[in-house]
Amino acid sequence: MITLALSKGRIFDDSLPLLRAAGIEVLEDPEKSRKLILPTSRADVQVVLVRASDVPTYVQRGGADLGVAGLDVLNEDGEGLYRMLDLKIARCRLSVAVREDFDYAGAVKQGSRLRVATKYTQMARQHFATKGVHVDLIKLYGSMELAPLTGLADAIVDLVSTGSTLKANRLVEVEKIMDISSRLVVNPASLKTKREPIRALIDAFEAAVIAGGRA
Ligand code: ATP
Ligand code: MG
Repeated sequence: MITLALSKGRIFDDSLPLLRAAGIEVLEDPEKSRKLILPTSRADVQVVLVRASDVPTYVQRGGADLGVAGLDVLNEDGEGLYRMLDLKIARCRLSVAVREDFDYAGAVKQGSRLRVATKYTQMARQHFATKGVHVDLIKLYGSMELAPLTGLADAIVDLVSTGSTLKANRLVEVEKIMDISSRLVVNPASLKTKREPIRALIDAFEAAVIAGGRA
């Protein structure tokens, strides 16, 4: 059996066409079913539904052979995984945003200490260290946009796609840290013990990504 870990929502939805191109149909809709293990049209392939941030743990520890996870999640917590393939799905960027009325460039130039709220403390720490900006990182688990509005933080580091959430909260994106997309990750031991079927899957995904042409 080959087990693929996916998270519900955009990663699951965007993975379906890639799976289909690899000849795999998921036989149950996670929005309608409460099942966490979904059978597929291939008797030897199953999908397990896990939280987006739990995908690396499942794949690292062999609870799944393969998984799809955002680069954000992998950079925060994805050591010991083979990052096989950029699937070019769930694309967004990790950015710094501040209140419209906050002079970010001025604060950086003056060498002020910035209070930065984020779920992505590793990447934020790395980014500001590289820039030589001193920061107090405030770990949050959601609704990062609220932090500058309530005076909890001067800036946030968060994922942005259209920017409409920032705009609705009178925040502006002032710096892009990196482009984010989802990657196919593989358990190193599985790649050895189930080499043939896993390679075949990876190759089919790769062909589908290229055919999708979202370079
Ligand atoms: P949970 O909702 O379980 O707390 P999550 O917020 O990380 O977890 P999703 O919102 O499904 O789960 O995001 C999954 C992945 O999709 C993220 O890790 C990121 O790589 C990507 N992503 C997040 N937000 C966006 C967005 N607005 N546009 C495109 N991709 C995004
Ligand atoms: Mg989310």
